[in-house]
Amino acid sequence: MRVAFLGPPGAGKGTQARELAQEWEGLHLATGDMLREAVAAGSALGREAKGYMDKGALVPDDVIIRMMAERLGKADAGRGFILDGFPRTIAQAEALAKLLKDLGQSLDTVVYFDVSEPELLRRLTGRRVCRTCGHTYHVTSNPPRRDGVCDACGGELYQREDDREDTVKNRLEVYRRQTEPLLDYYRQRNLLATVSGEGPLATIRDAIRKVVGGMR
Ligand SMILES: [Zn+2]
Repeated sequence: MRVAFLGPPGAGKGTQARELAQEWEGLHLATGDMLREAVAAGSALGREAKGYMDKGALVPDDVIIRMMAERLGKADAGRGFILDGFPRTIAQAEALAKLLKDLGQSLDTVVYFDVSEPELLRRLTGRRVCRTCGHTYHVTSNPPRRDGVCDACGGELYQREDDREDTVKNRLEVYRRQTEPLLDYYRQRNLLATVSGEGPLATIRDAIRKVVGGMR
């Protein structure tokens, strides 16, 4: 099982990747988590990445690619993996293909999570986070018992800068520009499978199982 999950922010890739990786006993490799871990571990790559993150800049392709190369080269990656948030650009996709080729591997499927823009906006702008414990809520799909107050600790809920409507629209625009060309890239290589990222989680999970079937 060597799969990449592709889709806009808010498409629900992370939730599905975490569950399915556990079920398939493969690795869930999320670039965001890997970057945070590298920074926390204080590795050379982590220190380099931190320099960009502290400035609020995107971590450049070559740093992400080296981090991924290091991780995919470890023995446990031989069990299979789900890539979540990578590749994000054509340059990353090409580097990934080369990296896997060097390891004598290739991607089996790229799953694209299709979610409409109004639904993405609803999901992303409705998110609220507890200032005290970090627990997350959603104003319509997972509201707290008391408006603006955390169920778990009574802390104040707030909307992260990242989740404000203008920021969300900007994130979706960056995604469209950088990542949508990947759909054609993988379609041309007969690797792309599209699933609807809307509806009940269990339905989405079954749709993914179906398109990656037979790779257990
Ligand atoms: Zn709380």
